[in-house]
Amino acid sequence: MKNMKFMSLMLALVSYTTIALTSCGNDDDPAKPTINLTEVGHNNSKHVHPGHDLHVEAKAVAEGLVKRIDIEIQQEGGGTFKIAKAYTEGKYIGVRNIEFHEHIDIPANAPLGKYHMHFVVTDQRGQQAKAESHLEVIEDDGHEEEEHEHQHE
Ligand SMILES: [Zn+2]
Repeated sequence: MKNMKFMSLMLALVSYTTIALTSCGNDDDPAKPTINLTEVGHNNSKHVHPGHDLHVEAKAVAEGLVKRIDIEIQQEGGGTFKIAKAYTEGKYIGVRNIEFHEHIDIPANAPLGKYHMHFVVTDQRGQQAKAESHLEVIEDDGHEEEEHEHQHE
């Protein structure tokens, strides 16, 4: 298939000519990535405490292979507090089907209140998909220690 041959050629060249990728798009582009953001906070609670970390799980498919994953957590209601985390190397990069599971550090000085989270997957062709979730930073009531129970590599 022409598309497959083109893809492997492009992948071979990707480390040298990332800029050129954007100019040879159209019909040969693989499908855009898709994201299913499954858990924001343990059991998808959509809340987190300052000074703790936020459990995030998602499934994503990138026919064009994952180039990077970006997570942005932005305070709502006029606040400007923002947390940004980028994954540009490691187990997700260059992969087609990913099961994302990471913990994002929420600084102890993060103001309480409502936030908005963006989960963005970019493929090797520069195509992006974005999933969104609301999120609330709430005071630690000391009753949610299970948030730290499982281990991560
Ligand atoms: Zn977790």
